[in-house]
Amino acid sequence: MTSRTRREFGIGAAAGLAFAPRMARGQTKPRVVVVGGGIGGATVAKYVALDNTVDVTLIEPKTRYTTCFMSNLYLAGLRSFESLNHGYETLADRYGIKVIHDLATAIDPTAKIVRLKSGIEMPYDKLVVSPGIAFQFNAIEGYNEAAAEIMPHAWTAGPQTKLLRAQLDAMDDGGVFIITVPQNPFRCPPGPYERASLAAYYFKQFKPRSKILILDAKDSFFEQDLFQSGWDQHYRGMIEWLPGQFTGGVTAVDVKENMVKTASDSFKANVANIIPPQIAGSLARNTGLADGSGWCPIDQVTFESKLQPDIYVVGDSASAGDMPKSAFCANSQAKVCAFTILAALTGVEPPAPHLFNTCYTYLSGNDAVSDAISFKPDGGLLKISGISMSKTGDKTDVRRAAVREAAAWYDAFTHDVFG
Ligand SMILES: Cc1cc2nc3c(=O)[nH]c(=O)nc-3n(C[C@H](O)[C@H](O)[C@H](O)COP(=O)(O)OP(=O)(O)OC[C@H]3O[C@@H](n4cnc5c(N)ncnc54)[C@H](O)[C@@H]3O)c2cc1C
Repeated sequence: MTSRTRREFGIGAAAGLAFAPRMARGQTKPRVVVVGGGIGGATVAKYVALDNTVDVTLIEPKTRYTTCFMSNLYLAGLRSFESLNHGYETLADRYGIKVIHDLATAIDPTAKIVRLKSGIEMPYDKLVVSPGIAFQFNAIEGYNEAAAEIMPHAWTAGPQTKLLRAQLDAMDDGGVFIITVPQNPFRCPPGPYERASLAAYYFKQFKPRSKILILDAKDSFFEQDLFQSGWDQHYRGMIEWLPGQFTGGVTAVDVKENMVKTASDSFKANVANIIPPQIAGSLARNTGLADGSGWCPIDQVTFESKLQPDIYVVGDSASAGDMPKSAFCANSQAKVCAFTILAALTGVEPPAPHLFNTCYTYLSGNDAVSDAISFKPDGGLLKISGISMSKTGDKTDVRRAAVREAAAWYDAFTHDVFG
């Protein structure tokens, strides 16, 4: 994207017109359309709409959004499903966002139109796409959408999360719960290991003879020392982690026999949670926003697509340098994107971006760890500029305090996005 300074904007009427969005007859405000009402999309819509000179439309098929974050607590019986759900009423009523519950099916970047499943065509001046992730169902033999109804991924929150919870509830004491983890990059790097920790917390109380087996495609994982010392402390002997170098990674599943197969072995599960490899949400891939990696290349200063002008991609779908695929990152990217769009619409220089990720991860119901990481563009790539993390030797009261902070973070964060 070319940067537009106040000075450039003020060169004269012709220059001003060149930078102003095209206005259709009767159109009084520039139109920003946001596709995907998850964390990235809802945040962009709200922060653009704070400037009431812009007309903002949010397109999202669901009327209630279920957060993945804290869904592992629901699996462990530590949180209700209802507490994970958020509606769009406040975004519409307080911020004047037009919320359309529909699916975007196509984008015409030349005509600047988004087509919806219902047949509606939405014209835009600036478009933001934040469709989250899709699963590479063909990557593990036998694991397709039908198989996910038997061996849930529960990696998008909703019915899949409920299914996994029901299976864990129904599992006999002494059963084996298998969690498979894909190669990077995938949504929420600490998520599978938090899931193992909280499933162990639940088993320890209600099914103490049960085991958890993590079949990882990788040989190491984020916060590994914190997790493994927590597992030793709370659940000795209950969780086994097998890295990819020992197994060759998961290659196939047999849903009839409840078997999970790796390159070197086969494992019988009582409950199998298959987290497949991931790629950008299908809308992003079907509309030419993704490259051969399956993710969307963006200008890491502005979040504008490198492949389509006037279309921005935030959240898990974007390739955002060192930034992990997390809700906190999606929210932070969304704010930078919103300010960039507002700056572009008014012809001013956008502020220099500084982005953040703060993540709370539960090792048990009363032991949580946290990390806080900041990111800045460096040579055009978003790189880590600061980092602070929990330590293995933290005192018990520090960990208990992190549990309380995590609950407060959830309330404040979801209010920032939806309220
Ligand atoms: C178990 C688990 C735990 C997690 N814990 C944390 C945590 O503690 N902290 C943290 O920061 N992150 C956490 N995450 C990660 C976080 O949930 C995601 O990174 C975040 O939701 C990404 O936001 P997004 O906007 O990219 O995608 P999403 O939030 O998934 O939103 C995408 C939205 O786009 C909509 N959509 C898709 N296609 C279309 C279309 N064609 N038309 C219209 N709408 C469409 C979808 O319906 C969806 O609502 C966790 C994830 C998991 C799985």
